[in-house]
Amino acid sequence: MARYVGAVDQGTTSSRFMVFDQHGTEVARHQIEHRQILPQPGWVEHDPLEIASRVDEVIAGALWRGGLTGADLAAIGVTNQRETTVVWNPKTGRPWYNAIVWQDTRSERIVQALEPQREFLRKRTGLPPATYFSGSKLKWILENVEGVRAAADRGEALFGTIDTWVIWNLTGGTDGGVHVTDVTNASRTLLMDLRTCNWDDELLALFDIPRPMLPKIRPSSARAAYGMTRRDGSVGAEVPVCGALGDQQAATVGQVCLSPGEAKNTYGTGNFMLLNTGHEIVPSKAGLLTTPCYSMDDKDTVYALEGSIAVTGSAVQWLRDQIGIIRTAADIEPLAASVPDNGGVYFVPAFSGLFAPYWRSDARGIIVGLSRFNTSAHLARATLEAICFQTRAVLDAMTSDSGVRLDVLKVDGGATVNDMLMQLQADVLGVPVVRPVVAETTALGAAYFAGLAVGFWKGLDDLRRNWKADRQWDPSWSADQRQAAYNEWQKAVERSLGWVS
Ligand code: ADP
Repeated sequence: MARYVGAVDQGTTSSRFMVFDQHGTEVARHQIEHRQILPQPGWVEHDPLEIASRVDEVIAGALWRGGLTGADLAAIGVTNQRETTVVWNPKTGRPWYNAIVWQDTRSERIVQALEPQREFLRKRTGLPPATYFSGSKLKWILENVEGVRAAADRGEALFGTIDTWVIWNLTGGTDGGVHVTDVTNASRTLLMDLRTCNWDDELLALFDIPRPMLPKIRPSSARAAYGMTRRDGSVGAEVPVCGALGDQQAATVGQVCLSPGEAKNTYGTGNFMLLNTGHEIVPSKAGLLTTPCYSMDDKDTVYALEGSIAVTGSAVQWLRDQIGIIRTAADIEPLAASVPDNGGVYFVPAFSGLFAPYWRSDARGIIVGLSRFNTSAHLARATLEAICFQTRAVLDAMTSDSGVRLDVLKVDGGATVNDMLMQLQADVLGVPVVRPVVAETTALGAAYFAGLAVGFWKGLDDLRRNWKADRQWDPSWSADQRQAAYNEWQKAVERSLGWVS
């Protein structure tokens, strides 16, 4: 039997391929960034062809670095930036338009028109109407890109989120690629019924989406594989592709939050906290999303409550790329540590409006509390604090919706390498923060679900045994200090709301 399992992690900023052994230990990886295309305010695009070739490059690169071949892989899982929308022609393999990224707000008008259906959508899909989700992005393409609607009728325009696009390409593309998605990705379209986990005719009518464009919805771990990689492709062998999860659900699996009441928080481009609620669909009153956590063959879907924050790590990128006060993301830590506190500065990075728990697309970014005394160091510190305060708002909502009080917060994602950020997070929450040895939980979760499908791991307990803590940060602020700082933050949030009308 092949000794390893591989996972494609196609994220917002980069693509990576990772190979894991039976203990969940990393054997090899390769990672490459791709272009962020920003044509006008509020628009964010990726080039789907660039993404497909980056995925091929990281697969070939990781295998080469590990001295491996495709034959060493028992299975491949796929995890992906969620909601990002691609429409392509399956006969030519060419996209009809750039991928519209989850942060993109161009479908605002479409979403506003859905306001009367807010309660219906919440009930049927677990989601509020928001530009974040794929449905309004797909509708925008159908309405604005010439020829797509007619092409859809001829079978020449398929819709997919990035999992679908990656799997279609990996399994043969124009030469027999399969058109599938998993439950977790399908649930982020506003087109899937949360209870049945199938496309819903009423929702398709509401968005005016032709059903033949949509992929088949499959379990997140599938014994009958979605398809096989091609011998003449980047893997170089026929390997079953049999696990797929949206990135945040994959991280939840990678953190082995596999029982009700277990939660994780991922710090990447945005921040995403998920709490496993078991087979129970918990509606949110506090502004969270209700979403599938995963599904497996012959088993009922496991659900989660989710708090999504649009801008966290990407605010660090903004300081680097647009403002220019740091050269690399890692530079933020010494800069922020060069001052003892935020000097009264609060930064609400509401670049795409505010997501959970506010869901206010009329919010925009603000920096408040400035005086002549302040420097770039205060702005750096305020940026790290913004990540932590936004997480506090989500954790409060989680506690109020579920009644679950976390003893510790399990964290992962690219920004958790920042020790100062982790200490601030423990201080702001008043809850210890713990990071596992394998911080790449997203790729690990996808590998786990692919491996389970082929019997590489026998059951969920095998996965639980693999999780090990690396480091823990304990709260150091007093309760008064914590509350005073959070009150200031909430005043700043108030001022960011209603900026655009
Ligand atoms: P994604 O999967 O969303 O592409 P990653 O998990 O790879 O994201 O994390 C990348 C994000 O983490 C970037 O937005 C980057 O700005 C942020 N980041 C990376 N290193 C640091 C650091 N030392 N401090 C703060 N943020 C960081």
